Amino acid sequence: MKILLVFAHPEPRSLNGALRDIAVQELEAQGHEVQVSDLYADGWKAQVDRADFPSLARDERLVPVAASKKALETGTLTEDVRAEIEKLLWADALILQFPLWWFTMPAILKGWVDRVFAYGFAYGVGEHSDRRWGDRYGEGMLAGKRAMLIVTAGGWEEHYAARGVNGPIDDLLFPINHGILYYPGYDVLPPFVVYTVDRLDESGFEPIAERLRKRMRTISSTPPIPYRQQNGGDYLIPSMQLRPGLGEAGATGFALHLNDEGGATADFSSNGAQERVSWPIPESPREPTR
Ligand code: FAD
Repeated sequence: MKILLVFAHPEPRSLNGALRDIAVQELEAQGHEVQVSDLYADGWKAQVDRADFPSLARDERLVPVAASKKALETGTLTEDVRAEIEKLLWADALILQFPLWWFTMPAILKGWVDRVFAYGFAYGVGEHSDRRWGDRYGEGMLAGKRAMLIVTAGGWEEHYAARGVNGPIDDLLFPINHGILYYPGYDVLPPFVVYTVDRLDESGFEPIAERLRKRMRTISSTPPIPYRQQNGGDYLIPSMQLRPGLGEAGATGFALHLNDEGGATADFSSNGAQERVSWPIPESPREPTR
């Protein structure tokens, strides 16, 4: 496969830098072709602003959605954005790698998404009518490709469990996995998450590296998270509400959008304590470590 890894850490000698090298080495060893977009090293511009739309008249009001649409249609996207879109079209799989900062991705990576996921490319695709609400959530320009996250977190795994104080990691990552990656069509693989990394020492590194190698070896075969397809019949159109009778009675929130019959399993990587589990992850059977 062709794989694009988008790397968002300011320090190449960081844990993230070491894990990126492990991932790339293993993917290449498996015969995959890999490109890396190293956002800090490349000096990626994070904010959407007028400079993104050189064809916009100086006195014209900037409406980012409309400007993005026009720039894609007229071929006037900036060179940096166009290059990333070309890489996304080239790649069969996308990996976003980042440290969890304030429960989400670092701003530079969010800015990459804001600028690269343009109107007409990642959103605003397909017919929007009373019969159909666009090509999104399982359909779209990036359908048929795979995507996954590699995330490091300072916090404890228990704190991110189903009843953990931080909120479940699946919920925290839902806006990225479902809202950013599934939206334009990617099949989204379970994330590779490493916890309590700030306390990591040499002896703790190798087991994590080995778990990452294992995930990289199965990138083309790991079952994706079984999100429901928007246009697959589970949602009423145009209200886009999940049909009555689907999902657990009384249930609300993110888990509703998982197909109960998906049956996928996830190698939900941690620091090694948790082995293969079913999706969605059950409550941790372990006692908190502190
Ligand atoms: P590094 O600091 O580079 O390394 C971490 C440890 O691994 C160090 O002990 C280092 O010695 C060791 N190490 C590094 N490389 C190797 C190697 N090759 N071999 C062996 N050991 C190695 N955490 C949360 O859980 N939730 C949050 O919301 C959150 N918000 C944050 C917000 C900010 C602004 C910041 C700065 C941190 C936040 N954190 C949060 C913590 C953050 O997730 C971690 O600091 C980050 O994931 C660590 O990754 P790193 O690559 O920067 O690690």
